[in-house]
Amino acid sequence: MPTSPKATVLDHRKVAAARVFAASRYPYLASALFAAQVHPAQGSGTIGVDQGWQVHADPNVLDAMAVDDVGRLLVHLVSHLLRDHATRAERAGVGGTDSDPHAWNRASDAEVNDDLALSAMVPPCAADMPAGLGAKDGRLAEQYYELARSGHRQWDCGSGCDGIDRPWDDSAASGRLNDRDGEFLRLGVASELQRAEGREPGTVAAGWLRWAERVLPSRVDWRRVLAAEVQAGLVHVAGMVDYSYRRPSRRSESSPSVIMPTLVRPIPDVAIVCDTSGSMTGDLLGRVLAEVEGLLQRVGLRGTNVRVLTCDAQVHSVKRVSRAAQIELLGGGGTDMGEGILQALALRPRPSIVVVLTDGFTPWPIEAPRVAKVIVGLIEGGGGMAPWVHRVPAPPSWAKVVRISELDADG
Ligand SMILES: [Zn+2]
Repeated sequence: MPTSPKATVLDHRKVAAARVFAASRYPYLASALFAAQVHPAQGSGTIGVDQGWQVHADPNVLDAMAVDDVGRLLVHLVSHLLRDHATRAERAGVGGTDSDPHAWNRASDAEVNDDLALSAMVPPCAADMPAGLGAKDGRLAEQYYELARSGHRQWDCGSGCDGIDRPWDDSAASGRLNDRDGEFLRLGVASELQRAEGREPGTVAAGWLRWAERVLPSRVDWRRVLAAEVQAGLVHVAGMVDYSYRRPSRRSESSPSVIMPTLVRPIPDVAIVCDTSGSMTGDLLGRVLAEVEGLLQRVGLRGTNVRVLTCDAQVHSVKRVSRAAQIELLGGGGTDMGEGILQALALRPRPSIVVVLTDGFTPWPIEAPRVAKVIVGLIEGGGGMAPWVHRVPAPPSWAKVVRISELDADG
């Protein structure tokens, strides 16, 4: 069907307020909540989500719902996507003969809702709980599915829940995420969620923590770990502004009960500091850097937002480069990555994330920089390391360390 202009009578202010409400309850879900754009779906009779993280809302249904309940529903809908219910539905045979997509909707609702219930965030419109299906909390949709077959679905959560396309799904919708972007978003949220729990144990519901453990890669796969760290850093940068409702937009003056978020986002800048001291081999560093740059591109950072500094005891060159091959390894003396970090932070615009690629034979600043997140890519197995050298100064506890250990994979 050719796309025709839809009647746009969607209450975008309500959506914005609902999203802020949701993100204030679950800051670690913020990136997912803000990725899920809301489009009008006149006559659909529901508010559901598709597999590209886009929400399709019947304007009339939206109008009938309170702001807080829209916020609850947004959390619920992105939960389907974070938990990849559409893919899991396909694996469970949903959509095939003798399957029951409505039962899958209820079963996956139950999987999502028991965690939301702990903070009174279950959406009233899609409120199925495990107990209602005669099951215990804390199980997965696959386990609830058979039980849910007797009964009717309350709510259509969309193709993002059961993997079956809806008439209002729009593969050309602006803001639509492809599978890979969706996967990076999952990684970023999982990492952010574990960090929130680390800062304050008990913050995150047990079901979410189990989910994050399943999603996050083992330490071995450094590419995915580093991608998750960078993604979480970007979330943080975006979040700093998304939450700046201290500076309300002028439109909110007309309705003082609704807090409007400011919608300006900074473009995150990343600086990469490369250790070019004698203990590093250029070939190894070049390969790591090439992979890191590719990875940054995949999380949506274009070359112009990535600057590369080469550094040993002093910073030798600060360059914006478009390819790893353009890096000259100028160092060779002692090493001080603290100097490299300082120089990176002196760049304008100032980077919000600094990635340090080093073998770790370096002193570090004692305190964390307040203005940027530092991720240390600790390159192991460079060949130049004598086996008795174990007194490598540990990277500082304030930095996020990703061990880069295996390089022969195709990347
Ligand atoms: Zn649902």
